[in-house]
Amino acid sequence: MKRRNFIKNASLTGVGIVVGSTLASCTENTSEDKSSLTKVSFPLVIGTWNVKRAATTAGEALEQGVVALDAIEQGCKIEEADEKNQTVGKGGLPDRDGHVTLDASVMDNHGNCGSVVYMENVTHAISVARKVMEETPHVILAGKGAEQFAYEQGFTKENLLTEASKKAWEAWAVKSEYKPIINIENHDTIGMLAIDKNGDISGGCTTSGLAYKMAGRVGDSPIIGSGLFVDNEIGAAVATGLGEEVVKTVGSFLIVELMRQGKSPQEACEEAIKRIVSKPNSNYKNFQVGYIAVNKQGETGYYAIHKGFSMTKYQDGNTINIPSNHYIKKS
Ligand code: ASP
Repeated sequence: MKRRNFIKNASLTGVGIVVGSTLASCTENTSEDKSSLTKVSFPLVIGTWNVKRAATTAGEALEQGVVALDAIEQGCKIEEADEKNQTVGKGGLPDRDGHVTLDASVMDNHGNCGSVVYMENVTHAISVARKVMEETPHVILAGKGAEQFAYEQGFTKENLLTEASKKAWEAWAVKSEYKPIINIENHDTIGMLAIDKNGDISGGCTTSGLAYKMAGRVGDSPIIGSGLFVDNEIGAAVATGLGEEVVKTVGSFLIVELMRQGKSPQEACEEAIKRIVSKPNSNYKNFQVGYIAVNKQGETGYYAIHKGFSMTKYQDGNTINIPSNHYIKKS
């Protein structure tokens, strides 16, 4: 999967983004939009961006009868292992000092969760996050501690910096312009939510974070409630985009709570985006955030600040990438 330049996407398409008192959804009302609200059948998988291979892997595993968390892990591992994907796992773009550092989280249908932050040298951060959840009394392990724990659990040490990512970093390092708000071409976190045959929901999220970030920076993806939240009674949500903005609004938890209050997944995603862009002095024209969500009934929703975001869905044996038609329009 190629990295997306959110800023470029927004400006090239000429989407003027003005947020007034009402937040208008730019939808083309495709048949998928309608069916996503009405058609319910399990198992079901949704993922951020175009992750058809990962979603298909997860969906097919669910058809075989695995539980949602197993499917999430299997799906996310596909992207983590793909060296061409420069936003997760092996091949992820490094921080400004040339270190590839990974963040990941999982949450299951029992409300258990685990995450790793700023972990180096281990490709499958999603699996280490699961081990944190299942094998430790803790919820989050960071940095060297997370890495050491991974080795103890049998994970292999690997150099995650591929030649392609090294070259990209070296090119960036010529000017070393550290502009976290503008330089956000890499918001391709893999967020995945699944409902298994039992109707139980789990989720996962894995990323190498912002390219050329400051050493030590951690985004939203491993922060339970921000990058990911699952409540098996209600539904689940996962985020991608500029993590700092997601953390400030505790976006995924917010979406689940809005669904608890009766909003559909689509309405809840839109409201969570509204919380970000309607803040006084919000710089939202210069960054992207996208959410996907599912409720207990299997209804799904997705929404982003700018055009360019898409959701992948596996249902009834088919995997589709749903066109990017849910974002803020001029109002
Ligand atoms: N949300 C991630 C972060 O801020 C980045 C991404 O979505 O690619 O680390």
